[in-house]
Amino acid sequence: MKCAICGREADERSYCEMHMKAYESIDKKYGAWKKALQISWKEYLSEIVKNPLTGEWAKELAEHLIRSGESQNVESS
Ligand SMILES: [Zn+2]
Repeated sequence: MKCAICGREADERSYCEMHMKAYESIDKKYGAWKKALQISWKEYLSEIVKNPLTGEWAKELAEHLIRSGESQNVESS
């Protein structure tokens, strides 16, 4: 399987190692953001893309997630 974003070799979750790592850190950070800001997953992804401090991997991933309309994998209330 190839990474949905960069086409490198990927594991069964369809992201390569680097994009998977970016996904995990984005996903983890969202928990904290949501508590503080009442922000939706989509809004959060837009903030990541806009943030100049966001790394390239995370930015690519966030753009991909916005395009694909994927919702957060872990549903928490
Ligand atoms: Zn990748």
